[in-house]
Parts: sequence; structure tokens; C-alpha cells
Amino acid sequence: MAVHPDLDAVRRARSRIDHLVRRTPIVASSAVPASLKLECLQDTGAFKLRGAANRMLAMSEAERARGVVAVSSGNHGKAVARVAGLLGVDAVVCLSSRVPEAKAAAIAALGAGVVVAGPTQDEADAAARSLVAEGRTFVHPFDDPLVIAGQGTVGLEVMEDAPATRRLIVPMSGGGLVSGIAAAVKGIDPAVEVIGVSQDRGPAMFLSMRAGRLVDVVEEDTLADGLAGGLGPENHHTLAMCRALVDRAVLVSEDEIGAAMAALHRTDGLVVEGAGAVGVAALMSGAVPPGPGTVVVVSGGNVSADALDAVLAAHPEPGE
Ligand SMILES: *Cc1c(COP(=O)(O)O)cnc(C)c1O
Repeated sequence: MAVHPDLDAVRRARSRIDHLVRRTPIVASSAVPASLKLECLQDTGAFKLRGAANRMLAMSEAERARGVVAVSSGNHGKAVARVAGLLGVDAVVCLSSRVPEAKAAAIAALGAGVVVAGPTQDEADAAARSLVAEGRTFVHPFDDPLVIAGQGTVGLEVMEDAPATRRLIVPMSGGGLVSGIAAAVKGIDPAVEVIGVSQDRGPAMFLSMRAGRLVDVVEEDTLADGLAGGLGPENHHTLAMCRALVDRAVLVSEDEIGAAMAALHRTDGLVVEGAGAVGVAALMSGAVPPGPGTVVVVSGGNVSADALDAVLAAHPEPGE
């Protein structure tokens, strides 16, 4: 049996990563009856810095000297590149050629090597595997106890800064964020409810939780690009943790995600990417009814001005 991270692991993660991550604010929303935990204001624009920092700070000197490798098209790649730069570790991020040039450039600008491997994620995975065979440490985006514990520090901060919290609404893809948060908050108070939210286009964890086994999805284009993709061929932690700890999982549509991004921008003055807006979308759509002590994790803000403008144009204000 795999040992899954618990509240103590999250506390250890916090003392390890404290000096590298921002303690992001929790603010009352005007768009929805909830408070928002603003990880869109985290360094690199998403919570993924937390898990990457915890994983890489736990590496031995010898491992650090051999460098790290990650597969990602977005926020995890930026986080690994950023932490590697701060620690003086050599990092390579493997991408498929479908990844936009701007994202590859952003990862390279943080100092990581970028390998564009081929037309699909499979080629990027294969490139990463050959770099692991050469001695680099693979930094998984979600299915790693240290990564999960790092993401769980979001939950610790919520319980400390907003002790009246009764319910957390959390974006869910591979499930590292929601399972780490659930381990932390339920370790503090088992009655706090944790709800996972995914896009309805290819929701791998949602379907896998229902089936009780890994379910493959066809990757589809979605506004929540930070949530797209499958769980991979094996899963040791996040599926079991989500099944055990997440009270409920819900889906939101493209239209609901766009409406939430627009409302967060117009009403709360926030730039939030699609993946970061799904929790607010779940409240606005009624997929999750309002309730006292609700905190929504706004997980990331990495959306281009052009993409956000397109969303705002598609979701005009009444009378606009
Ligand atoms: C990666 C990511 C998620 C999902 O996190 P998982 O740990 O894969 O469930 C949610 N929001 C943003 C902005 C992300 O980058």
C-alpha cells in the first residue's frame, strides 16, 4: 500500500517551502457569496510553485547536482523552472510541438532548458524518460507525495487565515491540489467539506473517481487548459486520496467557465485563467449551492490579454 501524505506531511512541506512561496490573500468576493483564496497571485501565477518547491527542496545534494526534468505545457513547467532557478538546479521541461511558442518562451525565460519533442504528449513523455535514464530526477505534476503535500499548504493557510471555513471548492485535474488540501483541512477538522470541480470536456479524475479505476479521456480544447489531460498509465496517490477525501465532484461547462472569468474580472478586478475560475463557475451555475463559510480556491491567473479579451467579448455585461 502506498503511503499517502497527511496533515503532518503538509506541515513539514510548509516549513520547507515557506521562504520560497507567497502567503496569498483570502478576500471576500463580490461576484459570488464566498471568499477567494488567490493563488492567481502566487509567484509564477499559480499554486504549482508549492509542490515543485517541496519536491525539489527535499532532494539530496547529489540529486540536485544531476538536475530535474518535467513534462508540462504550462504552470507546472513554469514552477519547476522557477524553483530550479532559485535553487541553482539545472532543469529541462519537455513539451510537445503543440505547445504555443509563447509558453515555451516563458519557461525558457525562467532559465530552464526546453525540449520540443514531437507532435504529442507521448513524445514529450518519452523525451523526459530518456533524461531520467541519464540521471535527472522527474518532478511529477501531481502524483507524488511531496508534490501533493506542497499543494496542501494552500489548505493550511485557509484554515489559519479564515478559521470559520466550513467548505472549500477546489479546481481538480490530476488531483494533487484537491487531495493535498483535503488531507490538510480534514486533518484539522474532518467536518470541513471539500468539493472538486472539473471542466466537462475530458474530466479524467471525475470519471475515474466514479468508476473507481483510471479512466482514459480524449483531450479536448477547453478554456480551462490548465485542467486538460489524463491521469497517465499509473496512479499511486491522487485517485485513492480523491476517492477517500473529496466529498463531492462537480462539472462545469465552457460557457460557465467563461462567465466566471468575466465576472471575476469585472466584479472582483481579477485576472483568472479558465482553470482558476471553475470553482466560481460552480457557484454561479448552481452546481454547488451557496453555503456559509465557503472558500473558493482561485488556482491560477496565467491567461493572455488576448484570450481574456475574447472571453469578455463572448460574455458581455447586461446592457453592454
Ligand atoms: C494544475 C492546475 C490545476 C489542477 O491541479 P491538479 O493538482 O492537477 O488537480 C488547477 N488550476 C491550475 C491553474 C493549474 O495550473
